[in-house]
Amino acid sequence: MNTTHRSQIYNIYVVVGLSSLLLISSFYLFGMRPLTGYLRATHTESIDLALQNSVGRLQAILHNHKDLARQAASRTAIRHQQVAFLRGEITHEALVAFSQRKLADALHANDALRAIARHGPDGERLFSVGVPVPMSLTAYCDAETLKRVRMIPTEQAERTGELVYCSPIVDDDQALIGFDVLIISDQAVQRFIDEQSRPPNTLALIFDEREIKYWPNQSADDQAHAALRDFLASRSTAPRFVIRQQPLEVHAWSLVSIVDAEQFFAPIDRQTLILLATVLGTTMVIYLLTVLALRPIISTLAREEQLLVLLRSDGLTGLYNHAYMQELIDAELERAIRYQHPLMLVLFDIDHFKALNDQHGHQAGDQVLMQLADLCQRFTRTSDALARYGGEEFLIILPETRRTQGQQFAERLRHEIAQAPFTYAEISLRITVSIGLAHWDGCGEAPTKAELIRVADRALYQSKEQGRNRVTLG
Ligand code: GH3
Ligand code: MG
Ligand code: MG
Repeated sequence: MNTTHRSQIYNIYVVVGLSSLLLISSFYLFGMRPLTGYLRATHTESIDLALQNSVGRLQAILHNHKDLARQAASRTAIRHQQVAFLRGEITHEALVAFSQRKLADALHANDALRAIARHGPDGERLFSVGVPVPMSLTAYCDAETLKRVRMIPTEQAERTGELVYCSPIVDDDQALIGFDVLIISDQAVQRFIDEQSRPPNTLALIFDEREIKYWPNQSADDQAHAALRDFLASRSTAPRFVIRQQPLEVHAWSLVSIVDAEQFFAPIDRQTLILLATVLGTTMVIYLLTVLALRPIISTLAREEQLLVLLRSDGLTGLYNHAYMQELIDAELERAIRYQHPLMLVLFDIDHFKALNDQHGHQAGDQVLMQLADLCQRFTRTSDALARYGGEEFLIILPETRRTQGQQFAERLRHEIAQAPFTYAEISLRITVSIGLAHWDGCGEAPTKAELIRVADRALYQSKEQGRNRVTLG
């Protein structure tokens, strides 16, 4: 295969390769990157949604607790007993005997309720039911906060597994007649946090930001704890974690979501990687198929060109043959006429070649013909066309060549051939050529191809006639 076809194949490989590259990069830039961005944004939104949902449900649990506290405090019968006691109508013993039993029933009725300590309006403890309620908790139930139910977090209560509520008791005229300190199990809160936490998303309930106290998921890993502590201390976290915080309405608490982004986004990254690999694979297959499909086409073309070259060339010397030279003369003459440029034909014939053949044999004659062809090829320019025109006859087309230039060329060629040593089987042979020139100077009436060749032929004949080894301009 010649270099033209090899470079054509190379060009096709480059074009197909570049198209594949373009395909992949546009897929990445216009398809996959926006898609990944979109998926990540959706994922992030889903964190917020889940957090909002959790906040609502946690709020409901705390509301339930609060309702429980309020119900215990507002039971009408024991409220009336309390009023009666404060008015001095009944004794402390009578109050305790009546109320303690009623509140103990309430305690039994609800698993979450663990203790109720009833106080008078001045804070003095009247009685208590359930687990012991330390007097220190009373300090949290100040007059200000008693206007509403107040929740005291576990840490402040110094007890674990319990939430402490302060609930005001008011009479029918809404005057404060005492308050309850209630201890309620925090199991519902803890269960909720544990249930809502799914790797890589961990929930924690923060109830004191200044002292960084929080209620973590029980199975949360150390890294999630560390990320939350970092976040609370500096409001920034390790880049791997995404932390979202949502305040609770009824308390000064907030629910946080600690998301391990690396794991959270892992499915997206994995899927986009699969997608990219698929596109890469497909592109590679297209590339290979294109290349494979083009290969036979290209080699057929190459074979055709080889045949064409064979068809145009002379078998012995490799120069153009007579038939192709006719086409070339036509083309060059047409060009010369169109642009009015000069053109010269150089026709030459080896002198007494028959004698050389007779003396040294046909193989010697063939060698001389081949060596003469080489010499002529070196002597001419690429824009000149050179052919073996007949047996020992050669023709050169010199485009864009003026008369004197052409004559000088022919003289130099004749001289060169006459000087050149031709060899066959270590025998040195000498030859001369007779040359006939035909010229058109690019103006005036243009000759036909036949006329030009006839002129060159006649001039060659003249050179032979006049003694050979000479140049004649026709
Ligand atoms: P001149 O042209 O000077 O008048 O004499 P000449 O002897 O060269 O001319 P002639 O036409 O008598 O003979 C041409 C010879 O060229 C005859 C032929 O054997 C030889 N010839 C032609 N083609 C080939 C070839 O391909 N190989 C060899 N070895 N000889 C060839
Ligand atoms: Mg001859
Ligand atoms: Mg001849």
